[in-house]
Amino acid sequence: ACAISPKAIVSDACASYSTLERLNRNVKPALDDLVQTTDFFSHYRVNLFHKKCPFWDDENGICGNVACAVETLDNEEDIPLVWRAKELGKLEGPRARHPGKVVQKQEPLRPLRGSLGEGVGESCVVEYDDECDERDYCVPEDESASSKGDYVSLLRNPERFTGYAGDGAKSVWDAVYRENCFQKSSFPKSAALGSGTLLKGPAAMDFKAVIEAAGRQQVLEQQRQQNPLTPFVANTGLEAEDECLEKRVFYRVISGMHASISTHLCWDFLNQTTGKWQPNVNCYKARLHGFPDRISNLYFNYALLTRAITKLGPYLTQEQGYTFCTGDPLQDAETRAKVVAVTEKASSVPQIFDESLMFKNGEGPSLKEDFRNRFRNVSRLMDCVGCDKCRLWGKLQTAGYGTALKVLFEFDNNDHPEVPVLKRTELVALFNTYARLSSSLNAVQKFREMVEGAEKKK
Ligand code: FAD
Repeated sequence: ACAISPKAIVSDACASYSTLERLNRNVKPALDDLVQTTDFFSHYRVNLFHKKCPFWDDENGICGNVACAVETLDNEEDIPLVWRAKELGKLEGPRARHPGKVVQKQEPLRPLRGSLGEGVGESCVVEYDDECDERDYCVPEDESASSKGDYVSLLRNPERFTGYAGDGAKSVWDAVYRENCFQKSSFPKSAALGSGTLLKGPAAMDFKAVIEAAGRQQVLEQQRQQNPLTPFVANTGLEAEDECLEKRVFYRVISGMHASISTHLCWDFLNQTTGKWQPNVNCYKARLHGFPDRISNLYFNYALLTRAITKLGPYLTQEQGYTFCTGDPLQDAETRAKVVAVTEKASSVPQIFDESLMFKNGEGPSLKEDFRNRFRNVSRLMDCVGCDKCRLWGKLQTAGYGTALKVLFEFDNNDHPEVPVLKRTELVALFNTYARLSSSLNAVQKFREMVEGAEKKK
């Protein structure tokens, strides 16, 4: 069996790009069918409007709205209203509010009938509240918020170009990568969990080191552009030899998520002059083509999620295992059959990610809690994203990766495996994140062909 070790760059040596692409060709039709045709997987509950960015004051300079986006355009005033970033970032379709706890107790199976739009089987969509679990890698959607969020149709709000850019977007990405700056194992929990600021107490003292590391990173990046063979050092704030497996994986997950978002916005790009939605090869070239490490991290995430889905498969697909549509046995069976189709296909290759290597040797075990807390911070940062659609998909994908990490690292695969208890939101996020990666792999291959085709013509 040729497993991709979490440490290895996805390369032609082992589980190659082509193996993952072949797997994806096999899984993608079933996965698209699952997320596009079932009520359960096409609606997500998310608190998009009632949580404040916990890390900085939105009104205080760090811009998170249309004003930032305008910076990237020559002159937004000249663009028709419907193509402006503010409009593109808005959510579409009916949004149903989550029923409060009292309503759930009184009327468990019939909350808010009809409010999600015609024909949506709400017994498949509405979920009940769970307490949060210390094994969570992301902040459960209902944590510390009086409002439980809204149900949003993912089909009506595809992830694509919105024009969100500039200082606001940059600040969020910078803060996300800063979470990757692990300290030595003595790093106190409070610093990672900080509720008001990312860099607090002892972490703040390390700010200088972060800046120095960023400088080194910049030099390396320049060297790499001149000579592609310069080794890539992850943006960890640590030298390569100082970097352990777990830190590297953390970075790869974030960078792979970023690469997937970039792929979608380049693939489903709006030409704001003509109003045409079409792939933008130059966008792909600028963000991905010249950065093999980013593409590699995208494939790495695909392997990671494939493994999580495979591990979860037996539990989800047993009839007694999980109820998708409470009160609607027919839809429940249909949804389960589609989940089975995905998990069976995803399991058709040998194990491609070996999670058992992580959190084992050296400082590994002590890093687990830090790793989890940092990932939670990344998920909290999504509340700082100043464009509704981007925030929706940012939240969904961090929750999807959080669920994958939870499945991989919190549940044993021994003879008596503990059955992972997952909330509906976690399952929806997991499968939709897998579908996003699947479509990114597809788009990257097509983009590559376009670039090669254009080069041949020259
Ligand atoms: P950015 O993508 O903002 O990147 C900032 C810097 O990070 C780069 O200069 C580079 O040094 C580094 N970097 C870039 N990619 C990687 C990578 N894969 N790995 C490691 N480092 C990297 N815009 C949309 O149009 N639609 C969306 O749905 C959308 N969703 C978003 C979701 C989130 C959570 C965030 C924070 C932003 C989102 N955006 C979205 C904005 C988008 O991601 C970019 O920030 C924006 O297009 C500006 O791009 P940029 O070229 O300035 O570089």
